[in-house]
Amino acid sequence: MNSPGQLFESSPLLNWLPDETFFSWVSRNHRLWGHDADWRTSQLLFGSRQAGIHHDLPNGLGIFSERTANQLGTAEAIARERTLLRYYGRFLSPGDEQEAVLALSGNSVAHLKFRLGLLTSRFRAHHPLKACTACMAMDVQEHGWAYWHLQHQYPGVWWCNTHGIPLRESLLKSTGVDRFLWHLPCLDSLRELPSEISHPTEAMLTSLSSLAKTAIELVAGTRPCELEPDYLYRAYRAELTQRGWVTEGGSLRLSIIAANFLEYARQTRLIPELGAFPATIQESMAQIGRLLRPMRSGAHPLRHILIIDWLFGDADSLLRLYRALPRDLAPAADDTKSENACMNEGDKFAELSVKLIQLMKTEGKSARATAQQLGVDTATVMVWAAKCGIKVSRRPKILKEEIRALLIASLRGGMDKAEAAKTYGISIVTVTQVLRSEIGLHEAWKQCRQGHEREKARKGWRVLMAEHGNIGIKLLRSLNPAVYAWLYRNDRPWLQQNLPIRGVSNPSVGGARIDWDQRDIALSGAVEAAALAISSTNGRSAIQLWQLYQQVPELKAKLSVLDRLPLTQRVIERALNRRSAKSQADDLLT
Ligand SMILES: [Zn+2]
Repeated sequence: MNSPGQLFESSPLLNWLPDETFFSWVSRNHRLWGHDADWRTSQLLFGSRQAGIHHDLPNGLGIFSERTANQLGTAEAIARERTLLRYYGRFLSPGDEQEAVLALSGNSVAHLKFRLGLLTSRFRAHHPLKACTACMAMDVQEHGWAYWHLQHQYPGVWWCNTHGIPLRESLLKSTGVDRFLWHLPCLDSLRELPSEISHPTEAMLTSLSSLAKTAIELVAGTRPCELEPDYLYRAYRAELTQRGWVTEGGSLRLSIIAANFLEYARQTRLIPELGAFPATIQESMAQIGRLLRPMRSGAHPLRHILIIDWLFGDADSLLRLYRALPRDLAPAADDTKSENACMNEGDKFAELSVKLIQLMKTEGKSARATAQQLGVDTATVMVWAAKCGIKVSRRPKILKEEIRALLIASLRGGMDKAEAAKTYGISIVTVTQVLRSEIGLHEAWKQCRQGHEREKARKGWRVLMAEHGNIGIKLLRSLNPAVYAWLYRNDRPWLQQNLPIRGVSNPSVGGARIDWDQRDIALSGAVEAAALAISSTNGRSAIQLWQLYQQVPELKAKLSVLDRLPLTQRVIERALNRRSAKSQADDLLT
């Protein structure tokens, strides 16, 4: 019998791939060894059928590193660099981090999720396996394997910034009872994205991309245990103060902060992991207080990453400030009770009431001016004044003015009316009134809306042209009929200048001669059959191109070389031509 360290001496183990998870590495070995059952691989690497099976926070790393004679690194190194502890560990205290490493090295990870703050947070406690389909293709080319990237598994990361596309979630779980325990990403087992995510708006795309970048850079740019909740909180306070979102009395201006946070958060709500985010100003008000409370250890890192992305926009800006903060300060106090916090402070009132009476009653100063002089906020002065029997004329609240200013800014940026109403908790009528009452605002808003839509449509068309410029306009427009229709109606001169040029064929692909005729015959047959099948269920509505490539998946990849597949091209055109009279009207440019 071999001693554990000698087990793999004669058959070298695979090396790590860049940014690969431990689960991915085991799954690749499993594939390489060709084991018919998952437990055989587990038995070999962990000496047990059940160890190591969690794809996010695996246990059994101690036995693993012993059996592999540390060829892949020590248990500690693997825990810290190749599992989700790399992400969580940044935010843990040294004691908790060490315990987490021990749990992963040992036999049980049962209590780990609780310790990491996963079960007590509002975020999901499980980690879906995620992959970028473009990374998969690239990895196969470069390394011979599609594999799981660690950075893609971080909570909050739903976007691949290398390829500019959303990540897809695996349908398969690695629970140990599942028959696909060890597995690698493959197209068939990745969930189709909801269309709002697969075709995100410009704003949503920017948000998802930024959140992913912030999460990845924050982890990459820090050491284990470097991020202490108390000091993070101080950094947030500093930024809030700089933005003028803290009153002179030191309270948070919750209304304006909540409106701003809502604007940020609503772009990312469609991701299930972030579904607990606010959708209305009321929800935002309720959540922001909790979110900005001084955080002790145990808060889910995603909570910090969201705040950092929202307030700082990237990890670097936060880290610069964070590292410059003076250390050894007393823990921060909870002041999220905000505008009302000062009202309960009887001492402060006793100290300032004489001055208040003098300013307001004798000198006739306004509540706002008094507040400025006393270094408290206006709402507090109003309450104190009432206590002293001073009658204050109720002027429109400052917060209302702030929200109005925010609303105007949003409208200038082209925000939809219904969306603005929802965002700021007002009626559409009020939004329209504001649009009309500000000089030049309505015109600016209209132009911006039109500009947004034009940019979106042009961009959509450019993407189609770049990918499929050689398939002819008929097929091109059927790839995205809405974009074509918009441009045709609103931006026709531009569209006319950006039509595909007939007869331009694709440059030859690679050196090998491909038997195009054979492919053409096979593919056209498949498309023909699909068209028949679709029209039998479609009733009178027209066949769409996407329906064809949904039935014949390889068709999508072939669209860019369709000029080499004349039979297939003809079959598709024929199928799409069985169209309704309505769409014939848009045919003028073809
Ligand atoms: Zn990618």
